[in-house]
Amino acid sequence: MAEKSRRLFEEAVKIIPGGVNSPVRACRSVGMDPLFIKRAEGCYLWDADDNRYIDYVCSWGPMILGHSHPEVISAIKETLSHGTSFGAPTELEVEMARLIVDMVPSVEMVRMVNSGTEATMSAIRLARGYTRRDKIVKFEGCYHGHGDSLLVSAGSGMATLSIPACPGIPDDIAKNTISIPFNNVELLNRVFEEQGKDIACIIVEPIPANMGVVLPEEGFLETLRGITREHDSLLIFDEVITGFRVSPGGAQQLYNIMPDITCLGKIIGGGLPVGAYGGRREIMESMAPVGEVYQAGTLSGNPIAMSAGISTLKILKDDNVYRELEDKGRYLFNELERAARSSGIDVQMNYVGSLGSIFFTSQPVKDFDSARATNSDLFRRFYSKMRSRGIYLAPSPFEAIFISLSHDQDVLKYTIECAEDVFKELT
Ligand code: PLP
Repeated sequence: MAEKSRRLFEEAVKIIPGGVNSPVRACRSVGMDPLFIKRAEGCYLWDADDNRYIDYVCSWGPMILGHSHPEVISAIKETLSHGTSFGAPTELEVEMARLIVDMVPSVEMVRMVNSGTEATMSAIRLARGYTRRDKIVKFEGCYHGHGDSLLVSAGSGMATLSIPACPGIPDDIAKNTISIPFNNVELLNRVFEEQGKDIACIIVEPIPANMGVVLPEEGFLETLRGITREHDSLLIFDEVITGFRVSPGGAQQLYNIMPDITCLGKIIGGGLPVGAYGGRREIMESMAPVGEVYQAGTLSGNPIAMSAGISTLKILKDDNVYRELEDKGRYLFNELERAARSSGIDVQMNYVGSLGSIFFTSQPVKDFDSARATNSDLFRRFYSKMRSRGIYLAPSPFEAIFISLSHDQDVLKYTIECAEDVFKELT
């Protein structure tokens, strides 16, 4: 049934490490081979063997409008007809910056880069350069891309593949990263009491989505804001997933917390490789050529990527979009929970709007330890049975389910019916 995918994978593993260009795609943790995708439209993907799937990965978040959205495709085509890259400023970059500044509450200035990893790496350098301090605080299970300082107790692929610590990161770098459990205020206070004067910043996914989706407990984000102010450290929200996903202004708008620096990616590229970091003017002006903190990129602000992102953000400016996404999320996640429970399977559905996860456990999941304590064997079986019914989920309990605007009521209902059958088979 997936004969061509199997053959392509056999070929790929000979010349690409693990056969993939990003580890989780290899589907190792669910004990299956990856599907090779040929094309995508709306909420559907077609694999190399022409099997159709309902896509809940959405390219790991960016495809919030659905695949091959006509406005995005036509914007890309129009820009493409003028050339692909100039290495000089374009009007599109100004338009993109304007959209981000208008939509993300704390951002007064923004710099475009090419990936979420580049955004977080640059934001950390900026925080260190601005404060003239070296240490950073992150939270266990939060993933901020694969920069050296940030691959400490990271979620996402490291968690999926059970890699405890990444070889290749010098101790001299890792020693400056303090990693503590998410939602743990007591430990946070202690860390700042002891080392506050050396801490450049806290970086956090305000709604972590790389240990599965975990919600900040009431007051937690406020505590981060308060303690960083008190110690003259900066607060960085990594909104690479939550930006333009949970509201037009991201998690900072939803929870009404103003970070000093915000990292963006995924949705702002409309499916092309883009990242960005932005924040208060006074901090952003530490970047070269105004200030001395250096960061650059040959393809940064690439016109085709800008046009895909701009056309996506223009559609997302409409508040009704988020109401619609919330309705879809509420329906899907609540119905999945009901279906599991009616088969006697304990699950926790953690979700915000169209971003959520299913954890196989009877216990609340509020940090990395509780996420890791969930039943991964049950997840594996659930994943495999859903995939054989044409439902394409992320192959890891530590990755999120993404819903797009193109997942209509019939598609969601069909997904729930499939899950009902699968849950019955799992008991
Ligand atoms: N930050 C978060 C919250 C992410 O989820 C990711 C990727 O999944 C990144 C940063 C890194 O982004 P990229 O994969 O574009 O480098």
